[in-house]
Amino acid sequence: DLVANQIAAGEVVERPASVVKELLENSIDAGATRIRIEVEAGGRKLIRITDNGHGMVKDDALLAFERHATSKLRTSDDLLSIATLGFRGEALPSIASVSRLTLETRAPEEDSGTLVEIAGGNILRVEEAGLPAGTTITIRDLFFNTPARRKFLRSEQTELSHIASLVTNYALAHPTKHFELHSATQALLIAPSVSNSADRLFQIFGRETSSLMLSTAAEMDFARAGLPEPPPWKREEDYTPPDPGYLRITGFVSKPELQKLNRNSVYVFVNHRLVRDKLVLHALGEAYRNIIPPTSFPVVLLFLEMPPQEVDVNVHPAKTEVRFRQSSFVHDFIRDTVRTTLMQSRP
Ligand code: ADP
Ligand code: MG
Repeated sequence: DLVANQIAAGEVVERPASVVKELLENSIDAGATRIRIEVEAGGRKLIRITDNGHGMVKDDALLAFERHATSKLRTSDDLLSIATLGFRGEALPSIASVSRLTLETRAPEEDSGTLVEIAGGNILRVEEAGLPAGTTITIRDLFFNTPARRKFLRSEQTELSHIASLVTNYALAHPTKHFELHSATQALLIAPSVSNSADRLFQIFGRETSSLMLSTAAEMDFARAGLPEPPPWKREEDYTPPDPGYLRITGFVSKPELQKLNRNSVYVFVNHRLVRDKLVLHALGEAYRNIIPPTSFPVVLLFLEMPPQEVDVNVHPAKTEVRFRQSSFVHDFIRDTVRTTLMQSRP
C-alpha cells in the first residue's frame, strides 16, 4: 500500500543519488552492458536511465511495483548469500510512491514492449508499445507529494555531484560496461567499455593520477582468521565456524605524493557492491599512517571479494553499510595488504 511504500521510500530514497543507485543496480542485475543516465536540476526534475539489459515481460513489469513481490529472499538463510545487487524488491515501489515514474521495457525475445505510468504510487496507464530491447525508467518530480522530504534536498549542484560520484563509482567497478551521464547542459561522464580496471582508472582519472597509483593484490584463507567474534546477527550459541573461503583484495592505492583533502576519492566495493564502511576506511587510515598527514586522504580503488556468508549486506536498506563476520580479520588484512604495497614502492 501507498503508506508502506512511502515509509520504505524514506529508508531507500534519501535523495536523487539514491534513486540513481537503485536504478543502476537494477540495470546491472539485468545484465546491461550499456547504461545511460540523464538528469535535470540535480535529479529533482528528471532522472532517466536507459539500459540494454534483459528487460521485463508485461507481468513482471507490473509485479515490479508491488512491494516485496520480487524479493529474492525466500528464507532467512538467503539473507547471507545474496548474489545479485537487489534483493528486497523495495526500490521501485518506493521510488514510484514519491515521484512520477514511467517504465518502458521490452524483453529481447518479445515482439512488443510495455509502458507503465505511475504517479505517487497510482498506476495511471499500462500499454503495449513498440520499444527497443532493454529498459528505460524516467523519474520526474521526485518528492512532489512529500514536501517535507523535498525540503531536505540540497542545492542542484550538490545533488548532481553526488550523482556524478556515484556513477563514477559504478563505472570503476564495471570497466567492461559502457556508462554515460548527462545533465541538461553537458556530458558529465562518457566511459566506453574497456578491458580492465587499470584502463578504466586511466580513462576516468587521466594520465597524471593513474601514474601515481600502485596496484595491489592479495588473498587470504578465512580459515586463518583468529578466534572469530560472535557474528552480530546471531546468538553466540548459534555460532558455526565460517565456511572455507578466501578474502581477496585487488585494486589501486595512491603513492604518498598524491593527497586529497576529503574522502571522495576512496572507492571501495565488497563483492561488487559499493560500500562506505567505517571499518574499511579505518583500515586504510592505518595503512597510510605516517605516510601521509592525518588530515589528507589517499586515492583508493579497492575491490574486496569474499564468500557471501562472510558479509552481511542487510544492515541498512540503502546498502552502503556492511557488516563483516570476521571484522578484525578483514580490517587487519586490508591494512597489511595496503601497507605492504606502499612500503614496497618506496625507493
Ligand atoms: P530488487 O532489485 O530488490 O529485486 P527493485 O524494486 O529494485 O527490487 O526491482 C524490482 C524488480 O524489477 C527486479 O527484481 C527486476 O525483476 C525488475 N527490474 C527492475 N529494473 C529492471 C531493469 N532495468 N531491467 C530488468 N528488470 C528490472
Ligand atoms: Mg533493485
